[in-house]
Amino acid sequence: MAYKERVESDELKIFRILNNHMTLPSKEKQIYSNLEKGYKGEVMFDQITEGLDKSKFLILNDLLLETNSTTFQIDSSIISQENFLPCEVKNFEGDYYYKSDHFYVMNDNEIQSPLDQIKRSDTLLRQLFQKKKHSISIKSNVFFVNPAFTLYQAPLDKPIIYPTQLNKFFDELNAKSSILKDNHYELANILVKEHKTLSPYTRLPPYNYAQLKKGLCCGLCHSLKVSSDGTILVCHSCGCVESVEDGILRSVRELQLLFPNIIITTNLIFEWCKVIESRKQIRRILKKNYEACRRGKYTYYE
Ligand SMILES: [Zn+2]
Repeated sequence: MAYKERVESDELKIFRILNNHMTLPSKEKQIYSNLEKGYKGEVMFDQITEGLDKSKFLILNDLLLETNSTTFQIDSSIISQENFLPCEVKNFEGDYYYKSDHFYVMNDNEIQSPLDQIKRSDTLLRQLFQKKKHSISIKSNVFFVNPAFTLYQAPLDKPIIYPTQLNKFFDELNAKSSILKDNHYELANILVKEHKTLSPYTRLPPYNYAQLKKGLCCGLCHSLKVSSDGTILVCHSCGCVESVEDGILRSVRELQLLFPNIIITTNLIFEWCKVIESRKQIRRILKKNYEACRRGKYTYYE
């Protein structure tokens, strides 16, 4: 297990729910698709770093740090005896080319250089370490994790690890001797404490309850083609089966993420889930899992 685990961001979760219940505008659809792809790549990367000897390395996944009022993100960090290894993980797919310090997609569209990205975060990280009075050498790398990624005219002298080199890189790292001392744990704890969370709501499109398509989503493939026989939910897209109770509770959490101030009532969940025919069943499940509060004539759940 990593010293700091990666969790899905609320932003990604909300985008995913919105994508199921409305048609995202094209700009937001692009942001959502990049988030989903990036997260997938990071999870792929985590599976590789999981294989590192935890008595020799500390792994901190997904740090959002701030120094001198500038925030920067490190997808994954590995602390060894000698080095601090920030890892910039890229899940690019398809053909790209490199030309005089710039990265391009094959159609000549330039993309932000991952090398510039690590240069920037290295500088900020160094400042942060200085402030916290920690000195450890920083060795950043860009990791391209997608096996379907090709970089033409790839430079030989840059800190880039290509998909075909991932296993070798980590096998060699794992074979090195590394003795962790108190100061390594101290540094890890400082970074975990410094980790910030951004508001998940800044890049989302505007949305409101009335405009959203109602229906209970499949917990696995997110399709709205779900039916209920009273006890279980069946997804007609992927065949996944879930208990009605789990599905309803998941839907409640979705609504609360979309609308943090929403008041949960039986009628609201009945309308939102759409496929549950019995209001009684919804009331029973809400009562069992939440605290029932009364305001005048109606009951809501917290
Ligand atoms: Zn499904």
